[in-house]
Amino acid sequence: MAGCGRGLKQAPAGRGLTPAAPTGSVSWMRIVLMGAPGSGKGTQSQRLVERFGIPQISTGDLLRSAVARGTEYGVRAKAAMDSGQLVVDEIVLGIIRERLAERDTERGFILDGFPRNFAQATALSSLLGTLGRPLDAVVLFEVDYAEIVRRISGRRSCQQCGRVFNIHASPAGTPAHCERCDDQPTLVQRADDEESTVRRRLEVYEQQTRPLADYYAAQGLLRTIDANASVDEVTVRLFALLESLPAQRLLRNAS
Ligand SMILES: [Zn+2]
Repeated sequence: MAGCGRGLKQAPAGRGLTPAAPTGSVSWMRIVLMGAPGSGKGTQSQRLVERFGIPQISTGDLLRSAVARGTEYGVRAKAAMDSGQLVVDEIVLGIIRERLAERDTERGFILDGFPRNFAQATALSSLLGTLGRPLDAVVLFEVDYAEIVRRISGRRSCQQCGRVFNIHASPAGTPAHCERCDDQPTLVQRADDEESTVRRRLEVYEQQTRPLADYYAAQGLLRTIDANASVDEVTVRLFALLESLPAQRLLRNAS
């Protein structure tokens, strides 16, 4: 019932506010991308931004930007970080709220990396409810954990040019050297990408974030994508999924 009311009430507003999307048939959407570290959602998020012209809201970037610009919540976040404390959810939510007040989010947004736990999810629902801008969908990228560990632990980067390579993509036995730099420096692995670190991050995801799938499924928002595929194949699946969202059908029918 809530879903129907939401779509009917907001479809005309969405049409009035915004011109047609530059490409694709999605006029507006508010989505959360969920997935384990290494599931590829960051890359897919970038492709959504390019295709639909809807901004990506990544809380890490947002936090840095709010601190740099000295917004109300940015100042509070900086105070917390300077005193070695965690930035509490209330501040992160405040920063998201500040971001959603900017015009480029009128056609929607892609939340990437937030919420990460139940408390954040309920706080987000409450904030978006207050703003009258509830989520259209939550897309869960499902990738086998073994594949994630393989992908991430294969990452190597060049300290000279910063380019990231994957040793699994190179022919077996190829030495790990940068192909772009003339003197072919040796590639290095970031501490974050070491297998033990990856496994720890997957555990946190499994315990705190993955259960949100049930929370969003109960609200009829969850859409799952099998992301055990190439980046391009996952993009095809993602676009198809988003263009078939009920809210988008409703918009097209109404126009
Ligand atoms: Zn290089």
